[in-house]
Amino acid sequence: MNICKLATIITLLFSSFTIKAQTITKDSFISPFKFPLLLSANFGELRGNHFHGGFDIKTGGVVGKPVYCIADGYVSRVLVMAGGYGNALFITHYNGYTSVYGHIKNFSSAVEKVIKDYQLRHETFAVDLKFEPNFIKFKAGDFIASSGNEGMSFGPHLHFEIRNSQTNEYVNPLIFYKDIIADKRAPVAQLIAIYPEKGTGVVNGSQEKKIIPMNALSRPITAWGKIGIGIKAFDYMNNTNNHYGIYQIKLFLDGKQIFGSQMNGVLSDENRRINGYTDFSELKRNRRWIIRSFSLPGNPLRFVESHDDRGIVEINEERNYQFMYQITDAHGNKNQYSFTVTGKKSNIDPFIPKGKMLYWNRANVIQEPGFELAIPKGVLYDDVELNYKVSKDSSYLANIYQINDEPIPLHTYCTLMLGLKNRPVKDTNKYYIASVVGKRKNYIGGSKFEDGWIKANIRDLGTYTIAVDTIAPRILPLSKKLWKSGNIQFKIYDNETGIKNYKVFIDGKFYIFAYSLKNNRLVMKYPLSLVRGNAHNMEVFVEDNCGNIVREKYIF
Ligand SMILES: [Zn+2]
Repeated sequence: MNICKLATIITLLFSSFTIKAQTITKDSFISPFKFPLLLSANFGELRGNHFHGGFDIKTGGVVGKPVYCIADGYVSRVLVMAGGYGNALFITHYNGYTSVYGHIKNFSSAVEKVIKDYQLRHETFAVDLKFEPNFIKFKAGDFIASSGNEGMSFGPHLHFEIRNSQTNEYVNPLIFYKDIIADKRAPVAQLIAIYPEKGTGVVNGSQEKKIIPMNALSRPITAWGKIGIGIKAFDYMNNTNNHYGIYQIKLFLDGKQIFGSQMNGVLSDENRRINGYTDFSELKRNRRWIIRSFSLPGNPLRFVESHDDRGIVEINEERNYQFMYQITDAHGNKNQYSFTVTGKKSNIDPFIPKGKMLYWNRANVIQEPGFELAIPKGVLYDDVELNYKVSKDSSYLANIYQINDEPIPLHTYCTLMLGLKNRPVKDTNKYYIASVVGKRKNYIGGSKFEDGWIKANIRDLGTYTIAVDTIAPRILPLSKKLWKSGNIQFKIYDNETGIKNYKVFIDGKFYIFAYSLKNNRLVMKYPLSLVRGNAHNMEVFVEDNCGNIVREKYIF
Protein backbone atom coordinates (compact mmCIF):
# COMPACT_ATOMS: atom_id res chain seq x y z
CA MET A 1 0.00 0.00 0.00
CA ASN A 2 1.36 3.44 -0.78
CA ILE A 3 1.40 6.28 1.69
CA CYS A 4 -1.05 8.30 -0.33
CA LYS A 5 -3.66 5.54 -0.17
CA LEU A 6 -3.12 5.13 3.55
CA ALA A 7 -3.51 8.85 4.08
CA THR A 8 -6.90 8.63 2.38
CA ILE A 9 -7.98 5.88 4.73
CA ILE A 10 -6.86 7.84 7.75
CA THR A 11 -8.72 10.89 6.52
CA LEU A 12 -11.82 8.79 5.93
CA LEU A 13 -11.51 7.34 9.38
CA PHE A 14 -11.31 10.63 11.16
CA SER A 15 -13.28 13.01 9.02
CA SER A 16 -16.62 11.70 10.21
CA PHE A 17 -15.56 11.52 13.84
CA THR A 18 -14.15 15.01 14.38
CA ILE A 19 -11.19 13.54 16.21
CA LYS A 20 -7.86 15.06 15.28
CA ALA A 21 -5.55 12.43 13.87
CA GLN A 22 -1.83 12.70 14.06
CA THR A 23 0.05 12.07 10.87
CA ILE A 24 0.72 8.41 10.43
CA THR A 25 3.20 6.98 8.03
CA LYS A 26 3.02 3.57 6.50
CA ASP A 27 5.63 2.07 8.77
CA SER A 28 4.18 3.45 12.00
CA PHE A 29 3.57 -0.02 13.38
CA ILE A 30 5.46 -3.22 12.84
CA SER A 31 3.89 -6.64 13.33
CA PRO A 32 3.63 -7.95 16.91
CA PHE A 33 4.84 -11.33 15.61
CA LYS A 34 7.73 -12.53 13.47
CA PHE A 35 5.48 -14.93 11.54
CA PRO A 36 2.75 -14.17 8.98
CA LEU A 37 -0.47 -12.94 10.59
CA LEU A 38 -3.59 -15.10 10.39
CA LEU A 39 -6.67 -13.94 12.24
CA SER A 40 -9.25 -15.95 14.12
CA ALA A 41 -11.28 -12.76 14.67
CA ASN A 42 -11.26 -9.33 13.08
CA PHE A 43 -12.21 -5.89 14.32
CA GLY A 44 -15.91 -5.19 14.86
CA GLU A 45 -17.03 -8.82 14.99
CA LEU A 46 -20.33 -9.16 16.79
CA ARG A 47 -19.94 -10.39 20.36
CA GLY A 48 -22.10 -10.43 23.50
CA ASN A 49 -22.61 -6.79 24.58
CA HIS A 50 -19.68 -5.53 22.52
CA PHE A 51 -18.04 -5.23 19.16
CA HIS A 52 -14.75 -7.14 19.08
CA GLY A 53 -12.22 -4.40 19.79
CA GLY A 54 -9.24 -5.71 17.84
CA PHE A 55 -7.66 -8.70 16.13
CA ASP A 56 -7.42 -12.22 17.48
CA ILE A 57 -4.13 -13.38 15.98
CA LYS A 58 -3.52 -17.11 15.60
CA THR A 59 -0.45 -18.48 17.35
CA GLY A 60 -0.28 -21.92 15.72
CA GLY A 61 -2.37 -23.59 18.41
CA VAL A 62 0.29 -23.08 21.10
CA VAL A 63 1.08 -20.57 23.84
CA GLY A 64 4.45 -18.92 24.42
CA LYS A 65 5.05 -17.18 21.10
CA PRO A 66 7.18 -14.06 21.62
CA VAL A 67 5.24 -10.82 21.13
CA TYR A 68 7.14 -7.74 19.97
CA CYS A 69 6.44 -4.08 20.56
CA ILE A 70 4.85 -2.53 17.44
CA ALA A 71 6.40 0.94 17.94
CA ASP A 72 8.41 2.89 20.51
CA GLY A 73 6.39 3.60 23.62
CA TYR A 74 5.94 3.00 27.32
CA VAL A 75 3.86 0.65 29.46
CA SER A 76 0.80 2.63 30.52
CA ARG A 77 -1.33 -0.07 32.11
CA VAL A 78 -1.37 -3.74 33.05
CA LEU A 79 -4.34 -5.92 33.88
CA VAL A 80 -4.43 -9.27 35.63
CA MET A 81 -7.87 -10.80 36.01
CA ALA A 82 -9.64 -14.15 36.38
CA GLY A 83 -11.85 -13.55 33.32
CA GLY A 84 -11.78 -11.17 30.36
CA TYR A 85 -8.29 -10.46 29.04
CA GLY A 86 -6.64 -12.64 31.70
CA ASN A 87 -3.37 -10.72 31.44
CA ALA A 88 -3.19 -7.58 29.36
CA LEU A 89 -0.39 -5.17 28.56
CA PHE A 90 -1.06 -1.61 27.36
CA ILE A 91 1.72 0.27 25.57
CA THR A 92 1.23 3.94 24.79
CA HIS A 93 3.10 5.07 21.68
CA TYR A 94 4.26 8.53 20.72
CA ASN A 95 1.97 8.73 17.67
CA GLY A 96 -1.33 9.03 19.53
CA TYR A 97 -2.15 5.34 19.74
CA THR A 98 -2.02 2.72 22.47
CA SER A 99 -1.56 -0.97 21.66
CA VAL A 100 -3.11 -3.65 23.87
CA TYR A 101 -2.02 -7.29 24.11
CA GLY A 102 -4.51 -9.63 25.81
CA HIS A 103 -4.66 -13.25 27.08
CA ILE A 104 -0.85 -13.20 27.32
CA LYS A 105 0.91 -15.90 29.32
CA ASN A 106 3.81 -13.80 30.62
CA PHE A 107 4.88 -10.20 30.66
CA SER A 108 8.50 -9.24 30.08
CA SER A 109 10.55 -9.62 33.26
CA ALA A 110 10.61 -5.91 34.17
CA VAL A 111 6.80 -5.69 33.99
CA GLU A 112 6.33 -9.07 35.67
CA LYS A 113 8.41 -7.87 38.65
CA VAL A 114 6.30 -4.74 39.16
CA ILE A 115 3.11 -6.82 39.06
CA LYS A 116 4.47 -9.45 41.44
CA ASP A 117 5.59 -6.83 43.97
CA TYR A 118 2.15 -5.22 43.85
CA GLN A 119 0.35 -8.56 44.25
CA LEU A 120 2.42 -9.49 47.29
CA ARG A 121 2.13 -6.06 48.90
CA HIS A 122 -1.65 -5.94 48.44
CA GLU A 123 -2.31 -9.67 48.92
CA THR A 124 -4.22 -9.83 45.66
CA PHE A 125 -4.09 -11.66 42.35
CA ALA A 126 -6.28 -9.24 40.39
CA VAL A 127 -4.36 -6.14 39.30
CA ASP A 128 -5.24 -3.01 37.35
CA LEU A 129 -2.18 -0.77 37.43
CA LYS A 130 -1.60 2.45 35.53
CA PHE A 131 1.89 3.84 35.04
CA GLU A 132 3.43 7.26 34.58
CA PRO A 133 4.79 7.92 31.07
CA ASN A 134 8.22 6.41 30.43
CA PHE A 135 8.41 4.45 33.71
CA ILE A 136 8.95 1.28 31.65
CA LYS A 137 9.90 2.01 28.04
CA PHE A 138 10.06 -0.24 24.99
CA LYS A 139 11.46 0.22 21.51
CA ALA A 140 9.79 -1.08 18.37
CA GLY A 141 10.70 -4.76 18.04
CA ASP A 142 11.49 -5.31 21.76
CA PHE A 143 10.18 -8.50 23.33
CA ILE A 144 7.22 -7.50 25.53
CA ALA A 145 5.26 -10.66 26.31
CA SER A 146 4.63 -14.33 25.55
CA SER A 147 1.31 -15.13 23.91
CA GLY A 148 -1.10 -17.26 25.91
CA ASN A 149 -4.62 -18.46 26.48
CA GLU A 150 -5.40 -16.71 29.77
CA GLY A 151 -8.72 -15.26 30.89
CA MET A 152 -11.78 -15.93 28.80
CA SER A 153 -9.79 -17.25 25.86
CA PHE A 154 -10.75 -20.63 24.46
CA GLY A 155 -7.68 -21.54 22.45
CA PRO A 156 -4.22 -19.96 22.28
CA HIS A 157 -4.15 -16.59 20.48
CA LEU A 158 -3.14 -12.99 20.95
CA HIS A 159 -5.92 -10.47 21.38
CA PHE A 160 -4.44 -7.33 19.86
CA GLU A 161 -5.98 -3.85 19.95
CA ILE A 162 -5.05 -0.39 18.80
CA ARG A 163 -6.76 2.40 20.68
CA ASN A 164 -6.75 6.14 20.35
CA SER A 165 -4.77 7.20 23.44
CA GLN A 166 -6.86 10.34 23.95
CA THR A 167 -10.40 9.05 23.49
CA ASN A 168 -9.72 5.37 24.23
CA GLU A 169 -11.56 4.60 20.98
CA TYR A 170 -10.92 1.10 19.66
CA VAL A 171 -9.48 1.56 16.17
CA ASN A 172 -9.58 -1.06 13.41
CA PRO A 173 -5.98 -2.44 13.32
CA LEU A 174 -6.45 -3.45 9.69
CA ILE A 175 -5.92 0.22 8.82
CA PHE A 176 -2.27 -0.34 9.73
CA TYR A 177 -1.79 -4.00 8.81
CA LYS A 178 -3.76 -4.37 5.59
CA ASP A 179 -0.72 -4.97 3.41
CA ILE A 180 0.59 -7.86 5.51
CA ILE A 181 -2.72 -9.74 5.82
CA ALA A 182 -3.85 -11.58 2.69
CA ASP A 183 -7.54 -11.31 1.86
CA LYS A 184 -9.12 -11.91 -1.51
CA ARG A 185 -12.35 -13.45 -0.20
CA ALA A 186 -15.50 -11.35 -0.16
CA PRO A 187 -18.14 -11.32 2.59
CA VAL A 188 -21.15 -13.60 2.06
CA ALA A 189 -24.74 -12.96 3.15
CA GLN A 190 -26.81 -15.77 4.67
CA LEU A 191 -30.21 -14.20 5.03
CA ILE A 192 -32.21 -11.01 4.80
CA ALA A 193 -34.77 -9.96 7.41
CA ILE A 194 -37.66 -7.58 6.85
CA TYR A 195 -39.12 -5.81 9.87
CA PRO A 196 -42.58 -4.23 9.54
CA GLU A 197 -42.87 -1.23 11.89
CA LYS A 198 -45.35 -1.84 14.68
CA GLY A 199 -48.83 -0.72 13.60
CA THR A 200 -47.60 0.98 10.42
CA GLY A 201 -46.23 -1.79 8.20
CA VAL A 202 -46.88 -5.30 6.89
CA VAL A 203 -44.72 -7.82 5.00
CA ASN A 204 -46.42 -10.59 3.04
CA GLY A 205 -49.64 -9.56 4.79
CA SER A 206 -48.18 -10.03 8.29
CA GLN A 207 -46.91 -7.71 11.01
CA GLU A 208 -44.27 -10.26 12.08
CA LYS A 209 -40.67 -9.95 10.92
CA LYS A 210 -39.90 -12.04 7.84
CA ILE A 211 -36.63 -14.01 7.55
CA ILE A 212 -35.61 -14.81 3.97
CA PRO A 213 -32.67 -17.16 3.26
CA MET A 214 -30.58 -16.06 0.28
CA ASN A 215 -31.79 -18.93 -1.92
CA ALA A 216 -35.40 -17.78 -1.45
CA LEU A 217 -34.68 -14.13 -2.21
CA SER A 218 -36.13 -14.35 -5.72
CA ARG A 219 -39.57 -15.38 -4.43
CA PRO A 220 -42.19 -12.61 -4.38
CA ILE A 221 -42.12 -10.34 -1.34
CA THR A 222 -44.96 -7.90 -0.81
CA ALA A 223 -45.16 -5.10 1.71
CA TRP A 224 -47.15 -2.03 2.64
CA GLY A 225 -46.35 0.83 4.96
CA LYS A 226 -43.14 1.23 6.94
CA ILE A 227 -40.48 -1.47 6.92
CA GLY A 228 -36.85 -1.88 7.93
CA ILE A 229 -34.34 -4.31 6.45
CA GLY A 230 -31.65 -6.44 8.15
CA ILE A 231 -28.92 -8.85 7.07
CA LYS A 232 -26.93 -11.74 8.45
CA ALA A 233 -23.53 -12.02 6.80
CA PHE A 234 -19.95 -13.08 7.45
CA ASP A 235 -16.60 -12.19 5.99
CA TYR A 236 -13.84 -14.67 5.12
CA MET A 237 -10.07 -14.44 4.60
CA ASN A 238 -7.39 -16.39 2.75
CA ASN A 239 -5.76 -19.41 4.40
CA THR A 240 -8.26 -19.74 7.27
CA ASN A 241 -11.62 -21.39 7.84
CA ASN A 242 -12.76 -18.71 10.26
CA HIS A 243 -15.53 -16.27 9.61
CA TYR A 244 -15.33 -12.61 10.48
CA GLY A 245 -17.35 -9.48 11.03
CA ILE A 246 -18.37 -7.31 8.08
CA TYR A 247 -16.36 -4.14 7.54
CA GLN A 248 -18.84 -2.18 5.44
CA ILE A 249 -22.55 -2.59 4.73
CA LYS A 250 -24.51 -0.44 2.30
CA LEU A 251 -28.20 -0.76 1.54
CA PHE A 252 -29.58 0.88 -1.60
CA LEU A 253 -33.20 1.46 -2.59
CA ASP A 254 -33.84 2.15 -6.27
CA GLY A 255 -30.17 3.02 -6.70
CA LYS A 256 -29.98 5.42 -3.76
CA GLN A 257 -28.12 4.53 -0.57
CA ILE A 258 -30.45 4.51 2.45
CA PHE A 259 -28.16 3.00 5.07
CA GLY A 260 -24.47 2.40 5.64
CA SER A 261 -22.07 1.27 8.33
CA GLN A 262 -18.30 1.13 8.33
CA MET A 263 -16.20 -0.43 11.10
CA ASN A 264 -13.27 1.92 11.54
CA GLY A 265 -13.60 2.61 15.23
CA VAL A 266 -15.84 2.02 18.23
CA LEU A 267 -15.93 4.01 21.47
CA SER A 268 -16.27 1.92 24.60
CA ASP A 269 -19.60 3.62 25.35
CA GLU A 270 -20.89 2.38 22.00
CA ASN A 271 -20.16 -1.26 22.74
CA ARG A 272 -23.49 -2.08 24.36
CA ARG A 273 -25.29 -0.39 21.48
CA ILE A 274 -24.63 -3.61 19.59
CA ASN A 275 -27.83 -4.81 21.30
CA GLY A 276 -29.81 -2.26 19.31
CA TYR A 277 -27.64 -2.38 16.19
CA THR A 278 -28.43 -6.09 15.94
CA ASP A 279 -31.70 -7.94 16.57
CA PHE A 280 -31.36 -8.73 20.31
CA SER A 281 -34.37 -11.03 20.49
CA GLU A 282 -33.11 -13.02 17.48
CA LEU A 283 -29.79 -13.46 19.26
CA LYS A 284 -31.40 -14.56 22.52
CA ARG A 285 -33.95 -16.87 20.92
CA ASN A 286 -32.10 -18.32 17.93
CA ARG A 287 -28.43 -17.54 18.70
CA ARG A 288 -27.93 -15.70 15.44
CA TRP A 289 -26.81 -12.18 14.64
CA ILE A 290 -28.95 -10.13 12.31
CA ILE A 291 -27.64 -6.62 11.69
CA ARG A 292 -30.32 -3.97 11.28
CA SER A 293 -29.93 -1.63 8.33
CA PHE A 294 -32.09 0.92 10.08
CA SER A 295 -31.39 2.68 13.36
CA LEU A 296 -33.50 2.30 16.45
CA PRO A 297 -34.56 5.78 17.56
CA GLY A 298 -32.59 5.73 20.83
CA ASN A 299 -29.44 4.11 19.47
CA PRO A 300 -27.08 6.56 17.78
CA LEU A 301 -23.82 5.01 16.53
CA ARG A 302 -21.05 7.02 14.96
CA PHE A 303 -20.11 4.38 12.43
CA VAL A 304 -23.67 4.23 11.10
CA GLU A 305 -25.08 6.52 8.43
CA SER A 306 -28.82 6.36 7.99
CA HIS A 307 -30.52 8.48 5.42
CA ASP A 308 -34.00 9.93 5.75
CA ASP A 309 -36.23 8.23 8.31
CA ARG A 310 -33.48 6.24 10.21
CA GLY A 311 -33.28 3.92 7.20
CA ILE A 312 -36.97 3.01 7.51
CA VAL A 313 -38.60 2.65 4.10
CA GLU A 314 -42.19 3.64 3.39
CA ILE A 315 -43.85 1.41 0.80
CA ASN A 316 -46.79 3.53 -0.33
CA GLU A 317 -47.08 2.82 -4.06
CA GLU A 318 -48.17 -0.35 -5.80
CA ARG A 319 -44.90 -0.87 -7.67
CA ASN A 320 -41.61 -2.76 -7.42
CA TYR A 321 -39.08 -1.42 -4.91
CA GLN A 322 -35.58 -2.51 -5.89
CA PHE A 323 -33.25 -3.15 -2.94
CA MET A 324 -29.55 -3.91 -3.16
CA TYR A 325 -27.13 -4.84 -0.40
CA GLN A 326 -23.43 -4.32 -0.88
CA ILE A 327 -21.16 -5.89 1.72
CA THR A 328 -17.45 -5.15 1.53
CA ASP A 329 -14.37 -6.08 3.53
CA ALA A 330 -11.55 -3.68 4.39
CA HIS A 331 -9.51 -4.96 1.44
CA GLY A 332 -12.32 -3.95 -0.92
CA ASN A 333 -13.62 -7.46 -1.72
CA LYS A 334 -17.37 -7.22 -2.10
CA ASN A 335 -20.63 -8.99 -2.83
CA GLN A 336 -23.95 -7.52 -3.92
CA TYR A 337 -27.43 -8.94 -3.38
CA SER A 338 -30.53 -7.58 -5.06
CA PHE A 339 -34.14 -8.26 -4.19
CA THR A 340 -37.52 -6.83 -5.04
CA VAL A 341 -40.28 -5.84 -2.66
CA THR A 342 -43.62 -5.24 -4.37
CA GLY A 343 -45.92 -2.61 -2.92
CA LYS A 344 -49.35 -4.15 -2.32
CA LYS A 345 -52.05 -2.15 -0.61
CA SER A 346 -53.02 -3.90 2.65
CA ASN A 347 -54.93 -3.15 5.79
CA ILE A 348 -52.60 -2.52 8.69
CA ASP A 349 -54.00 -3.07 12.16
CA PRO A 350 -53.05 -0.09 14.30
CA PHE A 351 -50.82 -0.82 17.28
CA ILE A 352 -52.83 -0.83 20.49
CA PRO A 353 -50.59 -1.59 23.47
CA LYS A 354 -51.95 -4.22 25.83
CA GLY A 355 -49.47 -3.42 28.58
CA LYS A 356 -47.77 -0.33 29.97
CA MET A 357 -45.51 1.47 27.49
CA LEU A 358 -41.96 2.62 28.18
CA TYR A 359 -40.66 5.38 25.90
CA TRP A 360 -37.09 5.68 24.67
CA ASN A 361 -37.08 9.49 24.73
CA ARG A 362 -37.94 9.99 28.39
CA ALA A 363 -37.27 8.66 31.88
CA ASN A 364 -39.53 5.78 32.86
CA VAL A 365 -40.49 4.55 36.31
CA ILE A 366 -42.36 1.34 37.03
CA GLN A 367 -43.86 1.06 40.49
CA GLU A 368 -45.93 -1.95 41.43
CA PRO A 369 -46.48 -3.56 44.83
CA GLY A 370 -43.09 -4.97 45.90
CA PHE A 371 -41.41 -3.78 42.69
CA GLU A 372 -39.69 -0.56 41.66
CA LEU A 373 -37.59 0.14 38.61
CA ALA A 374 -36.20 3.48 37.45
CA ILE A 375 -35.01 3.74 33.86
CA PRO A 376 -33.26 7.04 33.13
CA LYS A 377 -33.63 8.78 29.78
CA GLY A 378 -31.20 7.52 27.16
CA VAL A 379 -31.18 3.91 28.36
CA LEU A 380 -33.82 2.39 26.05
CA TYR A 381 -33.06 2.01 22.34
CA ASP A 382 -36.73 1.88 21.37
CA ASP A 383 -40.22 2.09 22.86
CA VAL A 384 -41.11 -1.02 24.82
CA GLU A 385 -44.49 -2.56 25.44
CA LEU A 386 -44.24 -4.25 28.82
CA ASN A 387 -45.52 -7.72 29.36
CA TYR A 388 -45.60 -7.37 33.15
CA LYS A 389 -46.65 -10.43 35.13
CA VAL A 390 -46.31 -11.38 38.76
CA SER A 391 -46.20 -14.99 39.86
CA LYS A 392 -45.47 -16.82 43.09
CA ASP A 393 -43.00 -19.61 43.72
CA SER A 394 -42.35 -20.82 47.26
CA SER A 395 -38.66 -21.46 46.47
CA TYR A 396 -38.09 -17.69 46.19
CA LEU A 397 -38.35 -14.98 48.83
CA ALA A 398 -40.23 -12.50 46.70
CA ASN A 399 -42.75 -12.72 43.92
CA ILE A 400 -41.35 -13.48 40.49
CA TYR A 401 -41.62 -10.28 38.48
CA GLN A 402 -41.65 -10.66 34.73
CA ILE A 403 -40.98 -7.23 33.27
CA ASN A 404 -40.97 -8.65 29.80
CA ASP A 405 -41.18 -12.15 28.39
CA GLU A 406 -38.12 -11.59 26.25
CA PRO A 407 -35.10 -9.62 27.43
CA ILE A 408 -35.03 -5.96 26.40
CA PRO A 409 -31.52 -4.48 26.39
CA LEU A 410 -30.69 -1.45 28.53
CA HIS A 411 -27.79 0.80 27.59
CA THR A 412 -26.61 1.29 31.16
CA TYR A 413 -27.38 -0.31 34.49
CA CYS A 414 -30.73 0.56 36.06
CA THR A 415 -31.65 0.19 39.71
CA LEU A 416 -34.22 -2.48 40.47
CA MET A 417 -35.78 -2.77 43.95
CA LEU A 418 -37.72 -5.83 45.06
CA GLY A 419 -39.60 -6.27 48.32
CA LEU A 420 -38.60 -9.23 50.49
CA LYS A 421 -41.69 -11.28 51.45
CA ASN A 422 -40.17 -13.43 54.15
CA ARG A 423 -36.87 -13.42 55.98
CA PRO A 424 -35.74 -16.93 56.89
CA VAL A 425 -32.18 -15.68 57.42
CA LYS A 426 -31.25 -12.77 59.70
CA ASP A 427 -28.15 -11.62 57.81
CA THR A 428 -29.49 -9.37 55.05
CA ASN A 429 -26.24 -9.76 53.07
CA LYS A 430 -27.34 -13.28 52.16
CA TYR A 431 -30.24 -12.09 49.98
CA TYR A 432 -29.70 -11.28 46.35
CA ILE A 433 -31.64 -10.46 43.24
CA ALA A 434 -31.72 -13.29 40.72
CA SER A 435 -32.84 -13.29 37.13
CA VAL A 436 -35.09 -16.21 36.34
CA VAL A 437 -34.83 -17.99 33.01
CA GLY A 438 -37.12 -21.01 32.93
CA LYS A 439 -36.16 -23.16 35.94
CA ARG A 440 -32.73 -21.52 36.17
CA LYS A 441 -31.79 -18.59 38.36
CA ASN A 442 -28.74 -16.38 37.84
CA TYR A 443 -27.07 -14.14 40.39
CA ILE A 444 -27.51 -10.48 39.47
CA GLY A 445 -26.31 -8.77 42.62
CA GLY A 446 -27.61 -6.62 45.38
CA SER A 447 -26.64 -6.89 48.94
CA LYS A 448 -28.00 -3.41 49.56
CA PHE A 449 -30.89 -3.84 51.93
CA GLU A 450 -33.24 -1.04 52.97
CA ASP A 451 -36.52 -1.37 54.87
CA GLY A 452 -37.38 -4.77 53.47
CA TRP A 453 -36.16 -3.98 49.94
CA ILE A 454 -33.23 -5.51 48.07
CA LYS A 455 -31.53 -3.39 45.40
CA ALA A 456 -29.52 -4.46 42.37
CA ASN A 457 -28.42 -3.01 39.06
CA ILE A 458 -29.86 -4.77 36.05
CA ARG A 459 -28.80 -4.59 32.40
CA ASP A 460 -31.90 -5.90 30.69
CA LEU A 461 -35.61 -6.07 31.26
CA GLY A 462 -36.32 -9.72 31.97
CA THR A 463 -37.68 -11.68 34.93
CA TYR A 464 -36.41 -11.14 38.46
CA THR A 465 -36.95 -12.30 42.04
CA ILE A 466 -35.08 -12.57 45.36
CA ALA A 467 -33.14 -15.66 46.43
CA VAL A 468 -30.92 -16.42 49.42
CA ASP A 469 -27.42 -17.88 49.45
CA THR A 470 -26.14 -19.30 52.73
CA ILE A 471 -23.89 -21.95 51.22
CA ALA A 472 -20.15 -21.34 51.29
CA PRO A 473 -17.95 -22.05 48.24
CA ARG A 474 -16.24 -25.43 47.93
CA ILE A 475 -12.52 -26.10 47.65
CA LEU A 476 -11.30 -29.20 45.85
CA PRO A 477 -7.56 -29.92 46.20
CA LEU A 478 -5.93 -31.34 43.05
CA SER A 479 -2.93 -33.73 42.76
CA LYS A 480 -1.71 -33.35 46.34
CA LYS A 481 1.32 -35.51 45.51
CA LEU A 482 2.74 -32.66 43.45
CA TRP A 483 2.32 -30.00 46.13
CA LYS A 484 5.79 -30.51 47.64
CA SER A 485 7.32 -29.47 44.31
CA GLY A 486 5.30 -26.26 44.33
CA ASN A 487 2.73 -27.45 41.79
CA ILE A 488 -0.25 -26.59 43.97
CA GLN A 489 -3.68 -26.48 42.40
CA PHE A 490 -7.28 -26.38 43.55
CA LYS A 491 -10.67 -26.09 42.00
CA ILE A 492 -12.91 -23.61 43.74
CA TYR A 493 -16.65 -23.44 43.13
CA ASP A 494 -19.59 -21.44 44.22
CA ASN A 495 -22.74 -22.68 42.60
CA GLU A 496 -25.05 -19.85 43.49
CA THR A 497 -23.58 -16.36 43.57
CA GLY A 498 -19.98 -16.88 42.44
CA ILE A 499 -16.58 -16.24 43.97
CA LYS A 500 -15.76 -12.73 45.13
CA ASN A 501 -12.46 -13.20 46.90
CA TYR A 502 -9.86 -15.79 47.85
CA LYS A 503 -6.47 -15.96 49.52
CA VAL A 504 -3.87 -18.63 50.08
CA PHE A 505 -1.36 -18.50 52.95
CA ILE A 506 1.50 -20.97 53.34
CA ASP A 507 3.28 -20.98 56.69
CA GLY A 508 1.45 -17.76 57.46
CA LYS A 509 2.72 -15.96 54.34
CA PHE A 510 0.58 -14.79 51.41
CA TYR A 511 1.29 -16.61 48.12
CA ILE A 512 0.10 -15.52 44.69
CA PHE A 513 -2.36 -17.98 43.20
CA ALA A 514 -3.75 -17.35 39.74
CA TYR A 515 -7.49 -17.88 39.41
CA SER A 516 -9.21 -18.63 36.13
CA LEU A 517 -12.97 -18.25 35.70
CA LYS A 518 -12.69 -20.47 32.62
CA ASN A 519 -11.92 -23.65 34.57
CA ASN A 520 -12.39 -22.55 38.22
CA ARG A 521 -8.77 -23.36 38.91
CA LEU A 522 -6.49 -21.80 41.52
CA VAL A 523 -2.86 -22.35 40.52
CA MET A 524 0.24 -21.34 42.45
CA LYS A 525 1.93 -18.67 40.35
CA TYR A 526 5.57 -18.91 41.45
CA PRO A 527 6.21 -22.56 42.43
CA LEU A 528 9.91 -21.94 43.00
CA SER A 529 9.12 -19.53 45.84
CA LEU A 530 8.23 -22.48 48.05
CA VAL A 531 11.05 -23.57 50.39
CA ARG A 532 11.62 -27.28 49.76
CA GLY A 533 12.03 -30.04 52.29
CA ASN A 534 10.00 -28.75 55.21
CA ALA A 535 6.42 -29.61 56.08
CA HIS A 536 4.11 -26.72 55.26
CA ASN A 537 0.87 -25.42 56.69
CA MET A 538 -1.44 -24.05 54.08
CA GLU A 539 -4.66 -22.15 54.64
CA VAL A 540 -7.10 -21.45 51.79
CA PHE A 541 -9.87 -18.91 52.21
CA VAL A 542 -12.68 -18.41 49.67
CA GLU A 543 -15.64 -16.02 49.90
CA ASP A 544 -18.72 -15.84 47.67
CA ASN A 545 -20.72 -12.76 46.63
CA CYS A 546 -23.09 -13.11 49.61
CA GLY A 547 -20.26 -13.18 52.13
CA ASN A 548 -20.28 -16.95 52.78
CA ILE A 549 -16.76 -18.04 53.64
CA VAL A 550 -14.93 -21.36 53.59
CA ARG A 551 -11.50 -21.88 55.19
CA GLU A 552 -9.58 -25.11 54.66
CA LYS A 553 -6.26 -26.10 56.20
CA TYR A 554 -3.79 -28.52 54.67
CA ILE A 555 -0.44 -29.89 55.78
CA PHE A 556 1.95 -31.11 53.10
ZN1 LIG B 1 -10.12 -11.04 21.00
